[in-house]
Amino acid sequence: MPKAKTYNEKRRFDETTEPPAKVYKGDVDPGEAKPGKSFVIHQHHATRLHFDLRLEMMNGNTPVLVSWAVPKNLPLKPGKPHLAVHVEDHPFEYGSFSGTIPAGQYGGGEVRIFDNGTYEVLEQEPGKLTFRLEGSRLQGVWHLFQTSKGSPKDWLVRLREDLRPERDAPPDLAPMLATLGTEAFDDEGWIFEPKWDGVRALA
Ligand code: MN
Repeated sequence: MPKAKTYNEKRRFDETTEPPAKVYKGDVDPGEAKPGKSFVIHQHHATRLHFDLRLEMMNGNTPVLVSWAVPKNLPLKPGKPHLAVHVEDHPFEYGSFSGTIPAGQYGGGEVRIFDNGTYEVLEQEPGKLTFRLEGSRLQGVWHLFQTSKGSPKDWLVRLREDLRPERDAPPDLAPMLATLGTEAFDDEGWIFEPKWDGVRALA
């Protein structure tokens, strides 16, 4: 089997604005590498919209972002796990990257930061990783595990615990509807508008 291409080999840095990897010693094993502190989830509008989960881990003395492409993002409900495809380690500097990768380049399309923050590994062994995210959007515990079937790059991610604070129920609001009148009049407490057919909604 041909050796998988590295992060730098996949990209042309005269074309893309993504940062090059400065040190490259091969990808780390997420089941063994020393965890760092930060995580980022990119929202990536490539050929197919997907999310990229990146966890900081150490490659020797160099922090890298161990990465999984998660088509449906991390699950927010317990139960069915989501597919997470382990991809090449990204340079640590990628954590603050957002921008548009030019069409025709590897991963061409818009990259936005969906969430970032700190994370903590709770369980780590070959092919298994349980971690707690403390992000702006996501707070909770997820379990990532390598599947026994299919490609060794195929992992699954399951929600263990949703730690987001309970949100207040939205207030009971209804859109104001037009009142039909027979005659026009002038009054400071009123505004007049033509009545269009349609549905009113609060957005
Ligand atoms: Mn991606």
